Amino acid sequence: MKTQITKIEITPIEIPLHEPFVISKGALSVAKNTVIRITIGEGLSGTGECCSYRSIHAETQEGSIAAAQKIAALLLGKDAREIRKCVRLMDQHFVGNASIKCAFDMALYDLNAQLCELPLYRYLQGDGTKTIHTDMTISLLSKEAMVEKALQYQGQGFPALKVKLGDRPSRLDVDRMTAIREAVGSELPLRIDANQGWNYLEASSALHQMAHLDIEHCEAPVSGTNFIDLKKLNQESPIPIMGDESIFSHQDAYRMLAHDCVNLINIKLGKSGGINHAMKIASVAEAAGVDCQVGCFSESRLAITALTHFAKAWDHIIYHDLDSPLMQVDDPVIGGISYQPDWEVTLDESVGIGASFDEAFLNRFDQISIAAS
Ligand SMILES: [Mg+2]
Repeated sequence: MKTQITKIEITPIEIPLHEPFVISKGALSVAKNTVIRITIGEGLSGTGECCSYRSIHAETQEGSIAAAQKIAALLLGKDAREIRKCVRLMDQHFVGNASIKCAFDMALYDLNAQLCELPLYRYLQGDGTKTIHTDMTISLLSKEAMVEKALQYQGQGFPALKVKLGDRPSRLDVDRMTAIREAVGSELPLRIDANQGWNYLEASSALHQMAHLDIEHCEAPVSGTNFIDLKKLNQESPIPIMGDESIFSHQDAYRMLAHDCVNLINIKLGKSGGINHAMKIASVAEAAGVDCQVGCFSESRLAITALTHFAKAWDHIIYHDLDSPLMQVDDPVIGGISYQPDWEVTLDESVGIGASFDEAFLNRFDQISIAAS
């Protein structure tokens, strides 16, 4: 089979959310994502998706579309089996742009797993025995609204809740978490994510005041670039610190672990630039004996299916935040993960990612197609 890349389609899509998703950096009402479809030879294609979250990536959908056209020109004619070479080419020509690179990388992995006639998790050397349950995320709202959401999600059977914090002053967040823990009882696992909203003193104070609330971990208490304060917090906090916005790359992971700045890592394909680099982050964490979480931005079920395959291949990924499709009004994806009543996230044995976008949905948007001449 001919494996040269012959066509790349770039489609900006929009999926409204049921209600605004609010973090300390602001609110999101519509997921503005980008779909990349890479075709090889006479017609086999792979699909990837990214959600460029400007307050975290410093990328926008418009910027991703522009970068995607340049990347497409670089990759046309290349052998799609040579993933590492394609990733290196992207990295060589574009600093950053992790989000859009992720969509290309994901499409290449989809293609290669299909070429090997394997589900992606098997292509990534997973054995299929690992079970995955997603948590559900509560937006940063008033204390009363967050308690109501916590009770609603507990009633729906979610096995863990992730709570968005990062308000200032941080005592407001302590009040929120105290009320949520009181409402849901002592059994339900709770995790928190400040999305860099606190400064050192507020973080230190909040983490100590929440010590008795049995919180599994805290993501991004202070700015991701503030290694000095992250290190201090990691050493003193009664709640384990998870690196998220501080760790995009495997080099970041190495630096943060070597300097004792975090004890856990949140891996997102949209931060690492895709699966190829995410495997390196997982490897660095494994070498350091550090557990990981997989997390999302506002991707549809397609990218979250790819992420589930990735998570299935690594035993030390023990936390799974795979809830973004649950917040979306439309589900434009055919195939892929299923959410079970107990929120286990299951895959079938379809080859590749095993999911694709509904063509009628994609046709609603302006598609850019770049083909080899
Ligand atoms: Mg986070």
